[in-house]
Amino acid sequence: MPMTDSFKNRLFPVLPEIVDHFQTPFHIYDETGIRETGQSLKKVFSAVDGFKEFFAVKALPNPFILSIMKDMGFGFDCSSIPELVLSRRIGARGEELMFTSNNTTVEDFKAAMENGGCILNLDDITLIEKLPAIPELISFRYNPGHRRSGNAIIGNPVEAKYGVSHDQILDAYKKMKALGAERFGLHTMLVSNELNYEYMVETAKMLLDMIEWLSGELGIPFEFINIGGGLGIPYRPEDKPLNIEAMGRKVTKLFGAFKAEHGDVPKLYMESGRYMSGPHGVLVTKAINHKDIYRKYIGVDACMSALMRPGMYGAYHHIDVLGKDLIESPAETVDVVGSLCENIDKFAVERTLPKIDTGDILVIQDTGAHGHAMGFNYNAKLRPQELLLRSDGTVERIRREETMDDYFATLNFEKKIITPKND
Ligand SMILES: *Cc1c(COP(=O)(O)O)cnc(C)c1O
Repeated sequence: MPMTDSFKNRLFPVLPEIVDHFQTPFHIYDETGIRETGQSLKKVFSAVDGFKEFFAVKALPNPFILSIMKDMGFGFDCSSIPELVLSRRIGARGEELMFTSNNTTVEDFKAAMENGGCILNLDDITLIEKLPAIPELISFRYNPGHRRSGNAIIGNPVEAKYGVSHDQILDAYKKMKALGAERFGLHTMLVSNELNYEYMVETAKMLLDMIEWLSGELGIPFEFINIGGGLGIPYRPEDKPLNIEAMGRKVTKLFGAFKAEHGDVPKLYMESGRYMSGPHGVLVTKAINHKDIYRKYIGVDACMSALMRPGMYGAYHHIDVLGKDLIESPAETVDVVGSLCENIDKFAVERTLPKIDTGDILVIQDTGAHGHAMGFNYNAKLRPQELLLRSDGTVERIRREETMDDYFATLNFEKKIITPKND
């Protein structure tokens, strides 16, 4: 099921007041829910030595949220210089930061290694030459190719642009060892929004098998395996939540067996984004137009700039109409749409909802990850504000809405012209 009852009970009674004060549209996140999920994640893996979650910053890159993650003892998975800067701004340093980029530049590596550095997770063997210096600790992202199947969002590993191939991975570590690296990790990320925990257990098993083989060949110790993100959340009411307890039990067993056999065991790292924050955010928007042509349309005051997933992946986001439900209110089947000149700008397609009146508040759920962050400015549509419902009951604005000045900011530049000579 989507939004939890406890989040609903915290938010819905006060939502009219929040809407009055802040005006729609906005994303609002639930501190209590984020902390509960974080605590349960830690508890489930508490028997695995050195378990650590590195929150995937791209899911919800807001410093107020990152501070909550840091407070829970989590690190940060970054894929760009601004994500590193953001994480360092809230005080994360060194090995609290993992840098996992793709198609990486020398400038990226320089920024990653400055200011206390971070854990470098290389996406390709050729990137070794681009390192400005040899770090003591190095990790590679492994792509198992045909050895595993992926899923729809990330794709089949053979076709995915990420990671070092099976044939190159031994050489990659051999090279880093020869160059003087002394500490090693191994990473992979194969799926996205996966609800079957067995897949994640298999991934942990695959990485443990890999380090057994790699250490055997090269005599190098592995300090951690990182099973990536990709833990799924139930977007649809009929989706069963991922069984994190069962995953914890099986992974704990795997690590126990590995320790019994080898006397030593790597730490377990994870970099979940969606699982940590996805269910703990909603997009709140107001119905502003009704249109009755071949289908019925409800126009709302948010659009794809606030949430791309339905348009981009056909993703389902559950919608509640504040104060109405399908049991007591008459129902109507509608498309819920934004204002972009793109027919994919729909939050819901042929969805049966309680009959909506102009001015009704719609709560579009599970927008706490890959929601606001993925928003774009096509059609000069601006991104909405972000709010945080604190555990003490206060509501704080944690990002203002974009303004036209923000949109025009990149047109404010120094004149630069050349006349190519073509000689
Ligand atoms: C996107 C991403 C994640 C987070 O994925 P979720 O599906 O949000 O858990 C983790 N690691 C890497 C390398 C990623 O690109």
